[in-house]
Order: sequence, then structure tokens, then C-alpha cells
Amino acid sequence: MHRVFNFAAGPATLPTEVLAQAASEMLDWQGSGVSVMEMSHRGPEFMHIHQQALADLRTLLALPDDYEILFMQGGGRGQNAIVPMNLISRLDPDRPRADYVVTGTWSEQSFVEAKKYGDVHLAASTQTDGFTTVPAVTEWSLSDDAAYLHVCTNETIHGVEFHSLPALDKRVVVVADMSSHLLSRPIDSARYGVIYAGAQKNIGSAGLTIVIVRRDLLGHALPCTPSVFNWELVSKHQSMLNTPPTYAIYIAGLVFQWLMRAGGLVALEQRNRAKAALLYRTIDDSHFYTNPVEVGARSYMNVPFFLADASRNAAFLDGAKARGLTQLKGHSLLGGMRASIYNAMPIEGVQALVDYMVEFERHHA
Ligand SMILES: *Cc1c(COP(=O)(O)O)cnc(C)c1O
Repeated sequence: MHRVFNFAAGPATLPTEVLAQAASEMLDWQGSGVSVMEMSHRGPEFMHIHQQALADLRTLLALPDDYEILFMQGGGRGQNAIVPMNLISRLDPDRPRADYVVTGTWSEQSFVEAKKYGDVHLAASTQTDGFTTVPAVTEWSLSDDAAYLHVCTNETIHGVEFHSLPALDKRVVVVADMSSHLLSRPIDSARYGVIYAGAQKNIGSAGLTIVIVRRDLLGHALPCTPSVFNWELVSKHQSMLNTPPTYAIYIAGLVFQWLMRAGGLVALEQRNRAKAALLYRTIDDSHFYTNPVEVGARSYMNVPFFLADASRNAAFLDGAKARGLTQLKGHSLLGGMRASIYNAMPIEGVQALVDYMVEFERHHA
């Protein structure tokens, strides 16, 4: 068997232990005689998998009781529409209004999509800085009557992360797209009204979208909201209004257990910080690689970097691939390189990458 170090932004690398367990249970899940894919979602076996995954995620996040976890479909981009459909009329059905902070491509897309559903106000944007920072909260222009404030706490393409949420008035309902860093470190869930994340970055396989909603925010959906995207209905049916993405929930559940065995999110944060520090140090110590993001806003999960001589990009990628370091090509919007170093990327993978970067620089700078 041959496994590479896969630096893809998503779908992304998964813990080998998790894949091995899924493989060993593929034909016969724990004596049931069927694979998880073949089970009724309402049968006792899958109900157990589902309930365990919910309980483990709640434990990992130390989630307060007044929050619901929904297992949905439609991905992060689906939530770009589902969030306003469920929340934008919260304060006044005649005046749907929300604030958006734009710090990169993903929050830009959220902002554009939300405009279909109401009066959407740009509270802050770092576009003129090329999306290389998080804007100081003193510069955010928040509306008095916004139903919520949307932020993307880790911009997967630009590699910009909110390492903490700025202090805001308690009445502000913060909705956070955490698609690419949920479970990378502990978070103070109580600061958020809604948290959502597609699973295929840092959590599991594509097809599952995790949505965490404070209970008092349910019940404000626009009448046109499709039932399967109505948070309140989905919550009432314990995420079983229709067939949930059973196999993706199972894989996420195995990842939750792997995270708990690894020591939970405090331990993961230490590992992730060490990996990111190693990679950023290598970039900053060189005269050949650069990362344009302001130091305090650099993502611990997605690290874009650029070669001083872009004509060497193809040679860099070929050499990396030959060493089993794959998917390093940067997003087409930015070019250059990007290393995504999610929970499942071991420090050995980052070490192999920086060793290669140093060697490549020596030969080509
Ligand atoms: C990948 C990503 C999305 C889009 O997710 P899909 O599941 O493809 O819809 C949205 N937001 C962020 C921050 C992402 O990284």
C-alpha cells in the first residue's frame, strides 16, 4: 500500500486509522451483516451511529445545551442560501436585513448569495488589501437592525483566519462559516448564534454539512424555505426529515472518536500550531518563498505560498509529487502554492514538505 502526504484543500486527507477502520467494517459493520451504506437510516444500527456522532461532536466542542446540531446536505455553499432563508427575517419580516464581513472568496460568495433574500449590508471588507488580513473590529459598520452578522472565520483560499472573534455587543447574532477549521482547536461556541461547516475539509467526506444553531434562533424561516433546508423542521426530526448522508455521518463519527483518542481539541490545537509554525518559519526564513498574509491573521489550516520565480512552479510541483507530496498547486484565483494542513496531516508530512522546500530553494534560488 502506498499513501502520499495529500495537501489538498478539500476533499482532503483523512486519518489513516479512520480509513482502515472503515475498510475493516465495509462488508459487515460490527456483526450486522451489512455495510453502513446499506443500512436503513431509521434502523437501530444506524440510529446508534448517528446518536454517537452527535454526542461525540457535542463533547468535543463542549457545546452548551441550548445549541442544536443538525446534519444537513448542500455543503458550505448551500448554507450561503440556507442561512438567510432561516434567519434574515428574524427581527422584522418586512425588513429582512443582515450584515456581512468579507475577508476572502468564501465570505464574498456568502455575501453575494444572501442578497437574494434581503437587504444585505457590507459591514467590512479587506478586498482592497488583497484579502491578506482580518479587519479591525473598530472599522466594522454594523447595522442596528441586522438579523445577524456573517463572518468566515477561516478563508480557505486566501489563508486568512480569525484566531479569536472580536468583542461584539451581546445582541449581535454571529453566523460563522467554519468549513475549513471547525475542530482544529477549541472554540467558545456560546459566542456564536450559528456555526456551519462542510465536512470534506477538516472533518470527513463530502456530503455532510454540520450546522450548529442556538435554539432560540429557530423558527424564523421564510415561507419559501424548502422543508429539508428549514433548520427548525430538520431539528424537530433529529436530522432525519429525509434520508441523511449516512455514510458521511459514519465517517465523521469515526473522525470524532479519533479526535477524542488524540486528546480532544486542546491537543489538536497544539499539534496544528506546531505544524503551521514549522511551515511559516520555513517560508519566512527563505528568500525564495513568500506568504502575503499579515502574521496575526495567518491560517493554521491553509497556507498559500509563492515562489520568487513563478516559472519554477511546475518544476516545484513535479519534484514534490515525486516525493509523495501532492495537491500543492494553489487555487486558480491566486496561483502559486497552497498547503492545507488539516487535523489529519501529521507533522511528518509538514516536515517532509519543508525539507523539500529547502532543498528546492538550494537548487533553484
Ligand atoms: C470549501 C468551502 C466552502 C464551500 O463548500 P462546499 O461544501 O463545496 O459548498 C464554503 N466555505 C468555506 C470556508 C470553504 O472552505
